[in-house]
This record gives sequence, structure tokens and C-alpha cells, in this order.
Amino acid sequence: MGEFDFLIVGAGLYGAAFARLATDDGYKCLVIDRRPHIAGNVYTEDVHGINVHKYGAHIFHTGNKEVWDFANRFAEFNRYTNTVIANYKGELYSLPFNMYTFNKMWGVVTPAEAKAKLDEQTASCRTDDPKNLEEQALSLIGPDIYNKLVKGYTEKQWGRSATELPAFIINRLPVRLTYDNNYFDDRYQGIPIGGYTKWIASMLEGIEVRLGIDYLKEKESLGNIATKTIYTGMIDEYYNYTLGKLEYRSLRFETEYLPDTDDFQGNAVVNYTDSGTPFTRILEHKHFEFGTGKGTVITHEYPAEWKVGDEPYYPLNNDKNNGLYQKYRELAKADGNVEFGGRLGNYKYYDMDDTIAACKEDYKRITGK
Ligand SMILES: Cc1cc2nc3c(=O)[nH]c(=O)nc-3n(C[C@H](O)[C@H](O)[C@H](O)COP(=O)(O)OP(=O)(O)OC[C@H]3O[C@@H](n4cnc5c(N)ncnc54)[C@H](O)[C@@H]3O)c2cc1C
Repeated sequence: MGEFDFLIVGAGLYGAAFARLATDDGYKCLVIDRRPHIAGNVYTEDVHGINVHKYGAHIFHTGNKEVWDFANRFAEFNRYTNTVIANYKGELYSLPFNMYTFNKMWGVVTPAEAKAKLDEQTASCRTDDPKNLEEQALSLIGPDIYNKLVKGYTEKQWGRSATELPAFIINRLPVRLTYDNNYFDDRYQGIPIGGYTKWIASMLEGIEVRLGIDYLKEKESLGNIATKTIYTGMIDEYYNYTLGKLEYRSLRFETEYLPDTDDFQGNAVVNYTDSGTPFTRILEHKHFEFGTGKGTVITHEYPAEWKVGDEPYYPLNNDKNNGLYQKYRELAKADGNVEFGGRLGNYKYYDMDDTIAACKEDYKRITGK
């Protein structure tokens, strides 16, 4: 028996939510993180009074009322609604594809006109057996939208040509025949007022947190500190890559404070969809919170290849990696005192609401409560 019931490795959303649930039930938890801050990838940093999304734009959205209620225990959420603009060589389009997009692209005004145009565009490209992402996208939305709004962005994101990418990456491309610009369909959406770091700090209130500690380097001393370990880092790294390395896509962020610009782009997120622009997006952080103060902070987001040591952002869930992940799960099954959770432990892309939902489910399974 250790000093704690749970050692939780990772002070990100999963670790913080698990620690909260366990602490509320009377368990004693210790949370550690190797970064110098809490909140993992949802971390926001105060730069001249603006909450900067340090690891990429984060918008909380969910259709799950239980998850929404849990999230709202720790902060009030603002009314931010994600409306994304696509910039193709200076032409601006609305995302996701909706009547504003079709009006700009083809001059159509009514849903019936847009539907007729979409049918005309896809008529010659329709296929039930797309050989690659390009064929799949053309079959779904036709050449005009594909060439201006999908091709360049997707190729930059994945670092390879759309004809070399598997079709399954784009299962569907949502098309709305309304003038609804809301990027998400979920019922609940917003950003925690005061930023995500404050939200996670509130989730962790009263729980011991130690930062700047890498579990894998301190395994000896931490080994017996708790009855059970909840590990939210990379599962292959935990096992020292014994079975091989799981692969990811990474991102590089270039952030700058512009003291003399109060509004750089009039929107939180602008996607650059042409192949000539090397970055995929520009974020202007003050717009996530309707900021009106002096100066602004912008971030250029560049997709990047990943190698061990880089920040692993998106798992590459192809057959090879999924198979390897299953082998690590088998190893984990035999390891009685550790449970893997979160986006890295499960080698799965989780939105924040998925992370909370998965955490609640795991917590029930592990504690029976
Ligand atoms: C670019 C990007 C944009 C996103 N945008 C959205 C969005 O708009 N909306 C949305 O709902 N979701 C979004 N997400 C998803 C969201 O980031 C995740 O759901 C969430 O961060 C998952 O939390 P986690 O705790 O599982 O992982 P993490 O936040 O990665 O936390 C894991 C923590 O474990 C720590 N750790 C790892 N190994 C060790 C070790 N050996 N010792 C000590 N500590 C360790 C890490 O330092 C890290 O802090 C986005 C993700 C990305 C990549």
C-alpha cells in the first residue's frame, strides 16, 4: 500500500478530471507532470492580458449534457461559437461548406440552386470505390470546392499528395444547405472564461500536484508511492518502445505579440487553403474571448513531421500503428498496477468532451464507483 491511492501521471484534462472524480470519492491522489505547467495541451498562457492557446486552438463543444455539466462545475463558459474562414489566395469562404460558401463560389442564392450545382459538380466524379483521398473528396463535393478549399490544406496537413493519401481520411465532408456558419453541430459550445489553465486549476483544487517531474526518470522513487498508477503519457514510451514506435503528425507554432495592432484578422481562426502558403492557419487569440484591448497575439500554425522527442499531436491511426498499439495494450493488461488513459495512453484523437467521457468511464471501471 502506498502513501496515495492514485498516482496520476499527466496534469492534462484527463489526469485532472480523473483526480477530481477520485478526490470527490475520498481517494488520495498525487498528480505529476513533466511540463512546468498544468493543463497539458489545453494550456492557455496569459500574454499581455490575452489567453494564448499555446498548443493549438481549443474550442469546447459537446452534445453530452453530463460532460457539459461536469465542465461547467469548474468555470463559466462564454458564448464563443466557432466560425472559420478559409482564405484561398485572398478569396474568403465560410467553413464548414454552407450557403455562404456556395454563394461566394458560384453565385447561387437558394438551397435548391446550391444542390443543383453540387449535383452538377459531382456528376462526373462519383465513385463508390475511391482509390485515394482525392477521388473520395471529388466524389463528395466536386472539383471547384475540392481545388480551392480541400486539396492544398489537406496536402499541407499530411505532408503528402492527396493521391497518396487513403480515402478513409475523409469519410464525409459536411455540406449544409443553410446559412449556418457554426463550425460544430453540438448543442453546447464555448470557452471557459479566464482561460483553460484556470479551468484545470479549479478542477485540481485541493489536490497535490508536482510539476517538472518525468515519471519515466523517477520510476524507482515513485514506483511504490501509490496503490495504482494512471498513466496519460505515450504508451510506447512507457514501455521504452520495446515493440516499436507509434507514429504521429506534429505541429509547429509561431506566436507573436503585435502591440500596435488591435485586430489582425477579425476572426479567431482563418485557414489558408492554397498550397503556396506554408502554414495552415492563423489564430488570433483575443477573438476566442471577445477581447477588445490594445494589441493582439497571433499564431501561425505549421504542420510538421514527427520524430521521437517532438510533441505528438495527432496519432496516425493506420493499420500498422493500430496493430502495434494493440500489442502494447496486451503488455499493459499483464501489468496489474498501471492503467493507461487519455489521448496518448489510448493512442486516439480525443476532443475534450471525449476525453472527459472516456475518463468518467475508465474511472467507473477502475473503482467500481
Ligand atoms: C492542435 C489541437 C487542437 C485541438 N483542438 C481541440 C478543440 O478545438 N476542441 C476539443 O474539444 N479538443 C481539441 N483538441 C483535443 C484536446 O487537446 C485533447 O482532448 C486533450 O488535450 C486531451 O487531454 P489528455 O489529458 O489526454 O492529454 P494531454 O493534454 O496531452 O496531457 C497529457 C499530459 O501528460 C504529461 N506526461 C506525458 N508523459 C509524462 C511522463 N512520463 N511524466 C510526467 N508527465 C507526463 C504531458 O506533459 C501532458 O501534460 C485539440 C488537440 C490538438 C492536438
